[in-house]
Amino acid sequence: KEAAVLATVCLLSLFCFGCDAFQTGYLSAVRNNVAGLSKCTVNKNQFSLNVLPKPSFHSKSRYPSLIQMSTKTAVITGASSGIGLAAAKELTNKGWHVIIAARSFSKAEIAAQTEGLPAGSFTVMPLDLASLNSVRQFVNQIDTQPRQINALVCNAAVWYPRDTAPRFTAEGFEEHVGTNHLAHFLLAGLMVPKLKAADGFDPRVVFLGTDTHNPDSIAGKIPPQADLGELSGLTGSDALRGAKSMIDGKAFDPTKAYKDSKACNVLTMKEMHRRFASKGVTFSAIFPGCVAESPLFRDKRDWFRFIFPLFQKYITKQFVPVSEAGRRVAAVVSEEEFCNS
Ligand code: NDP
Repeated sequence: KEAAVLATVCLLSLFCFGCDAFQTGYLSAVRNNVAGLSKCTVNKNQFSLNVLPKPSFHSKSRYPSLIQMSTKTAVITGASSGIGLAAAKELTNKGWHVIIAARSFSKAEIAAQTEGLPAGSFTVMPLDLASLNSVRQFVNQIDTQPRQINALVCNAAVWYPRDTAPRFTAEGFEEHVGTNHLAHFLLAGLMVPKLKAADGFDPRVVFLGTDTHNPDSIAGKIPPQADLGELSGLTGSDALRGAKSMIDGKAFDPTKAYKDSKACNVLTMKEMHRRFASKGVTFSAIFPGCVAESPLFRDKRDWFRFIFPLFQKYITKQFVPVSEAGRRVAAVVSEEEFCNS
């Protein structure tokens, strides 16, 4: 009887791991590089960070008439729910102002109020990451804000695990990669000059990664693994409107597309560090823990959303509450120890 119970638990464990978006591996070509970035790995129930060295800071005071010079400001994409919202709450508790960059103004406004963010501590601004044009408009709108921007958190993401056919962004890119990666790639690039110009704080760009930075982990080995191939899905006229919907040009798989996009987030962090760290900006990627009750799992079946948190709490013991994940993100954004590693 015990053997049967054990076998059932093992099968359930394997199945849940197989379904989990966080069992991602990175493309083999960069595995060693990415793994080599890990500077700080806390124990398994905590979080892993890739925090890059802090370069010299070049201040350019471009905001002489700012009304809020003493208040630090962070832009968080997708802070209308989950980890981003929890991080926004944590930062406002620390005295920061948060710009919630969200595709639904009303949802973000209601979520912030429901979460208890004090009035005046946040601003909701429209940003639809499924449109590169919206990203450019957002950045133009940032220029009209009477605030300097001290941090950017690239947090928003979509995951459609049950899709059998790809969805596309306004520009025709597969939506996981277009939203989670390409839009953040553009946003971060456009925001770097504004971050550099901020006075009085070491500017930071923080990407949300997954547990799969380390290809030696169990999570990193479970298929479908991220694999960007030769990037053939992003080249030529076939790249648009789905003739090649995946980055590697292969058949559509929604969970692999999600994992590919998260791999790209980390590669972006790494490359931006290489290009811009000497200009005074710190780039980080954080795995906040397995946040099994976050809305990211909204498209999984009901039974999975019931079992998965229990599985994480009582079997793997890797469960992290949304509030704790938000606290971790806020720490990487704001605390001194994360600008010098
Ligand atoms: P949520 O689904 O709660 O948060 C995702 C956010 O992204 C939502 O606010 C959503 O907005 C927003 N978003 C989606 N599409 C767009 C778009 N086109 N434009 C603007 N915003 C958009 O999930 P989590 O909080 O769990 O995830 C946050 C981040 O953490 C993600 O990057 C995820 O990959 C990462 N992560 C999560 C883990 C987990 O266990 N949950 C583990 C490791 C990493 P809307 O409210 O309108 O849908």
